[in-house]
Amino acid sequence: MSQRISVGVIGATGMVGQNYIRLLNNNPWFEVAYVAASPRSAGKHYQEAVAGRWHMATDIPPVVGNLVVEDASNVGSALGKCSVIFSAVDMEKEAVRKLEMEYASKGFAVISNNSAHRQTEDVPILIPEVNFDHCDIIPAQQKHYGWSKGLIVVKPNCSIQSYMIPIHALMQKRYKVAKMIVTTLQGLSGAGYPGPSSLDIVDNIIPYIGGEEEKSENEPRKVLGKVTEDRIVPDESIAIAAHCTRVPVMDGHSACVSIEFAGAKPSLDELKAIWRSYRSVPQELGLPSAPRQPIIVREEIDRPQPRKDRDAENGMAVVLGRVRPCKVFDYRFVGLSHNTVRGAAGGAILMAELLKVKGYLG
Ligand code: NAP
Repeated sequence: MSQRISVGVIGATGMVGQNYIRLLNNNPWFEVAYVAASPRSAGKHYQEAVAGRWHMATDIPPVVGNLVVEDASNVGSALGKCSVIFSAVDMEKEAVRKLEMEYASKGFAVISNNSAHRQTEDVPILIPEVNFDHCDIIPAQQKHYGWSKGLIVVKPNCSIQSYMIPIHALMQKRYKVAKMIVTTLQGLSGAGYPGPSSLDIVDNIIPYIGGEEEKSENEPRKVLGKVTEDRIVPDESIAIAAHCTRVPVMDGHSACVSIEFAGAKPSLDELKAIWRSYRSVPQELGLPSAPRQPIIVREEIDRPQPRKDRDAENGMAVVLGRVRPCKVFDYRFVGLSHNTVRGAAGGAILMAELLKVKGYLG
């Protein structure tokens, strides 16, 4: 009999949801036993609900294809089927906030891709390599809401891992970044399905993504914050200015980044060596979805490129290139991460693996 933990995916029919179905198919610790989406999909077999809009390069796993899609708002339908909920619904923020609270109040561990709870003071925004210790807020969160085993943890915005994981590597070596200017070039799948119309995006770049710049500037502060008795206090000492653009690339968010250090700065060779040798808790714990090498530094002048580099380490690595001195700040580089894998489903599965090892999944 399977010893894997039964999990559910709400928003299972969308871009992120499909990546969960694909990635969880091979996960040794979790298996999908519940899928839910909007009333439009509810009542259909999963394979029928995604017919004509299955975007993965692998086939639908038969076990999931035959599951009946539930209406995600019918929380009771998940009871007895799973204990963990991966949330990838695209709904109004307030509706998502309420829905995720309802799942947690019924005892589910909710791991969310949505931004609704990212600024809730006792909900951690986790990047497992960077702020694994923020799980420590969970007992206070459970006490606050009166949940015996339910909990909510959230993923950050899909573009920030390409610069936050490198920044954390530098912090591990006591180099503190004080200022960053980031220009993102974000792939189409980041907008969900069907995304921008072809007439808007082919032969074009759209220099605005609603709400994205605020998330790119504010979420890193919470990720780098400190856990106190009842909340996470953001680190206000890092200043980030972000420009976020949508580009005609299927998957992969690139970021052109300039950084300035507070105090000492590493040499260029040391900077690259720190990134290449970076390992953190997910690697030490041997979590199944952890990339062996979280940061890959490429020396070719024309890398990273989304098509060639987004799948490095199964889409879980951050690939850096063009690392060089900056004429205004100290250094500059281009970072790339896979938005629906490291930036969404893969990153959230890694979070679940961390929670399991820390004993929060029962
Ligand atoms: P998507 O492709 O548009 O999929 C949306 C999903 O939400 C579908 O499963 C849809 O079900 C479901 N849904 C819509 N309205 C619903 C309702 N009223 N009740 C229940 N389910 C409903 O979006 P996505 O790109 O996968 O994004 C999902 C979430 O992840 C969003 O919050 C997004 O901001 C976040 N996110 C996305 C990315 C990315 O790279 N795409 C990265 C990080 C975070 P139906 O199929 O039945 O309509």
